[in-house]
Amino acid sequence: MVLESKVAFITGGASGLGAGIAKKFIQEGARVIICDVDAETGTKTAQQIEGNIHFYKMDISDEEQVKKTVESVVNEFSKIDILINNAGITNDKLLLRMTKQDWESVIAINLTGTFLVTKAIMRDMIKQRYGRIVNIASVVGLIGNPGQANYAASKAGIIGFTKSCAKELAGRNITVNAIAPGFIETKMTEVLSDEVKQYYLKLIPMGKFGLPEDVANLVLFLASDQSSYITGQVICLDGGMVM
Ligand code: NAD
Repeated sequence: MVLESKVAFITGGASGLGAGIAKKFIQEGARVIICDVDAETGTKTAQQIEGNIHFYKMDISDEEQVKKTVESVVNEFSKIDILINNAGITNDKLLLRMTKQDWESVIAINLTGTFLVTKAIMRDMIKQRYGRIVNIASVVGLIGNPGQANYAASKAGIIGFTKSCAKELAGRNITVNAIAPGFIETKMTEVLSDEVKQYYLKLIPMGKFGLPEDVANLVLFLASDQSSYITGQVICLDGGMVM
């Protein structure tokens, strides 16, 4: 079990990729804290996964909530070794129709939220001279996508943020990496029409969509001591879509 005695904090852990990562971490011996704005699903997910997993209701874009939650988690579990910045939303519209509110809602959660949670947790990681941070970006942050200017900007921002954090924290034995998933089967992608799904499928050399478990396997590696000399990287997990 590669995460024995580790405490992991996963944002957006109620569903999709976050829940898949939580399940994998529990199997590998970690104590897991999942936080999410969706308390009902978060509580159910924690019950279903079973084991040393705890749900906290938290909106990553609310600085006060983030500070209070991190404080109570550190009081309760005495440390946080691993942070997975996974919570994220989409609010797709072509640029001509995109309002300032559409833009800001996505940046506030995906980018500013990632900043707020990282800032709240890194102080303790610095003190203990150990940390693993994995940020969930997207291939869209690398190549762009029509209708997703706000989302693409937030994910490209996460990539720049990842590299800056990696440089600032490398000397403290804290690694910071990003994963750029392509098309993974979750709640976020199931709302897309069959036509859009077929369009993406044609762009994927492996000819199939990814599963939350594929993402969880890579997150596990980057969160473990097996990746201790890797920092500041962005790894695409996309069936060959971007190469
Ligand atoms: P999802 O919608 O299933 O899960 C996202 C979770 O984040 C939800 O449980 C939601 O309630 C939570 N959340 C939303 N806003 C929040 C907030 N302000 N504070 C706390 N929690 C919040 O989607 P998913 O596909 O599992 O996405 C997870 C991450 O992976 C996102 O950052 C997404 O952008 C990224 N991603 C997904 C795909 C994909 O194909 N599914 C591809 C690339 C990147």
